[in-house]
Amino acid sequence: MKLLKLRKKVLVKLKTAVVILSFGILFSCEKEEGFVQETTATNNLTKQEQIDVAKLGYVPEETFKIKLDLPDGSTDEYYSYRDMLTLTSDLQNMVKFADPSLDTEQREKLFRTNNTVGGNRSYTVAFVDFNTPFQQQAAQDMIFLFNTQLRTTIQLNHVFISSSEIASTPRDIMVFYNRIFVPTGLGTFVPDPNVFAGASFPSNFLPGGVLQLNTDAISSISTRETLRQVLMHEILHNFGIQHSDWRTQRSCGENEAENNPFGFVPIPGTNTSGDFLDSIMVACVGSTLGGRGYTGEDVASMREIYGFR
Ligand SMILES: [Zn+2]
Repeated sequence: MKLLKLRKKVLVKLKTAVVILSFGILFSCEKEEGFVQETTATNNLTKQEQIDVAKLGYVPEETFKIKLDLPDGSTDEYYSYRDMLTLTSDLQNMVKFADPSLDTEQREKLFRTNNTVGGNRSYTVAFVDFNTPFQQQAAQDMIFLFNTQLRTTIQLNHVFISSSEIASTPRDIMVFYNRIFVPTGLGTFVPDPNVFAGASFPSNFLPGGVLQLNTDAISSISTRETLRQVLMHEILHNFGIQHSDWRTQRSCGENEAENNPFGFVPIPGTNTSGDFLDSIMVACVGSTLGGRGYTGEDVASMREIYGFR
């Protein structure tokens, strides 16, 4: 999954991290100091798991199992490697989809993940505990723009529910508030208020099922405009779109590629440099949070993958 994150350098910037296939999280490397809370991480992978995660590009010795609490009280288990999270139940699928035949040059042109979603259908987005008007407006804005501006064969429906209704609500994507933890690189995880959100990538030809908003970054996404932009960015991760400047993360003031073993697949007719900034999918949205919408490139990307309607 990808995360939207806020980054502090000289100025405060916003960084969007990405969820890999199931839940890979890209995050900035800078941490707020003073956090002591950590999640439990164990590297108790079986031999077969070590072999399989290696196929995804993970270093087995640096891969851990972690648990993510969902708003209905249930828990998901993930493999965590650096900034990436993969549902343990999805491992076999991901191994199947990982494409070892892509050479380095091909990988360097990528723009979407190896996985996409079935087109010509509607998907339901459930917004959990979106109780205030600005939240509902931002959610409806995102749904409206996805359907009418992108105009692909995919249509989104939405429902607003409480966490107690999750189990009884059919949905394809669940949007909820949660604390987002990022790995320290030492096998531990800390909450990071610089990360705004995270979303999971498609799996099994379905959109990524999780879009998390970080409760520790709540003050940064507490207007209709800022929340709308974060949702518009993340929902494209749910449909397999990568960061437009994944190769450099130039929007973050960096010159370093994101690590994503699941692939960046070039989308014909779009900018495939991996260093493109005129997109809602830049890794760091910085001061444009609240002011950025879907660009021509974003529209072209989604229509190329899913078809113009
Ligand atoms: Zn992102």
